[in-house]
Amino acid sequence: MAKVKNWHLQREMDYPYEGARPKKQWAIIFDLNKCIACQTCTLACKTTWTSGKGQEYMLWNNVETKPYGSYPLAWDLNVLEKLGRQDWAKNGKYLGKTIFEAAEPTEKAVHFAPQDNDWMYPNVGEDDCAGGPAGEGGFSMSSLPHDKWFFYLPRTCAHCTYPACLAACPRKAIYKREEDGIVLIDQSRCKGYGECVRACPYKKSMYNPHTRTSEKCVGCYPAVEQGIQPQCVVNCIGKIRVMGFINPPWSMREDNPVDYLVHKKGIALPYYPQLGLEPNIYYIPPIHADRAYLRQMFGPLVDGAIERYQKLQSDPQTAGLLTLIGSTDRIMHRFKVADSTATGFDDKGQEIVSVPVTEPVIERRAWDEQLSVVRNNTP
Ligand code: SF4
Ligand code: SF4
Ligand code: SF4
Repeated sequence: MAKVKNWHLQREMDYPYEGARPKKQWAIIFDLNKCIACQTCTLACKTTWTSGKGQEYMLWNNVETKPYGSYPLAWDLNVLEKLGRQDWAKNGKYLGKTIFEAAEPTEKAVHFAPQDNDWMYPNVGEDDCAGGPAGEGGFSMSSLPHDKWFFYLPRTCAHCTYPACLAACPRKAIYKREEDGIVLIDQSRCKGYGECVRACPYKKSMYNPHTRTSEKCVGCYPAVEQGIQPQCVVNCIGKIRVMGFINPPWSMREDNPVDYLVHKKGIALPYYPQLGLEPNIYYIPPIHADRAYLRQMFGPLVDGAIERYQKLQSDPQTAGLLTLIGSTDRIMHRFKVADSTATGFDDKGQEIVSVPVTEPVIERRAWDEQLSVVRNNTP
């Protein structure tokens, strides 16, 4: 195995191939405090990419309720159990083993294969509360985290820097594009052995029994090549997502929206970074959910991320950037917040969107003196 640098773990790790970072790396940030599980993203992807034969069960984008929901069934419990208990240092350095390091000598990664039935219940556990049924013993929202809680977790392929799907493929049919870091399966090389389905711990590679090949989220590369964000991002009703390009921390740019939220402010974190893939979807954690659960999912930096998110009112730069999320279908390469206005720019430095950081409040009296009429707010 080669030694590669994984900045999520703050250390080097073993990986079957030499590390080669792409020129740009596709990434999505999700604000989990805002997702309403409307599943518009799921359907936007479904109608665009997976309406064919053999794809009936496939949801390249799915939204599950945590902690009890999962698609496929128990994907996260399975991988965490197989990896076993591992530890982090308080400063965010990972002390345990990744799925590559903990694998048997004959395997590329710790893995498991979901059964056909496990893909059949994408909404299992929807809206189920942790901390006891909502009716029992009352329900207090007066303190954080809440004593009864759940949250929605939207998921796509993470176009990992160190993909387990790619590492496991015996046909070398999976590749990572140099121009944008998107991970694709070459359908002409794939023979449907399903090693990627078994190896991806996030279970984002799926087998098509009709074509007898494996398929996965393509990062909406045709849109990305035109400077447009993916379907699941631009159709998000809650405006919780933004797609951009992330740099590693040693070459981060403060005016890059993704770098700013992940590196500069540290309020968006990768999920299950301990698995070792350097996944490129990042989450702003939900402030109300159980902290032990969130530490397992996002690592030890989650407490600081939540604390900083809760201080947004006194942080106009970050608050301004968050108002840009969902305001344009174009990919924002840079942003600026000045004079109570947030502005996004494309890769050529052209302005593509501009929004007020605070919406003006306009008070309209019921009695209009000028026209001597009573107004009401019924259209
Ligand atoms: S999330 Fe899974 S399918 Fe996607 S790149 Fe990573 S290992 Fe591969
Ligand atoms: S990026 Fe495109 S292909 Fe991937 S989940 Fe979103 S809509 Fe589907
Ligand atoms: S469209 Fe947006 S708000 Fe709706 S479920 Fe998807 S991520 Fe959540």
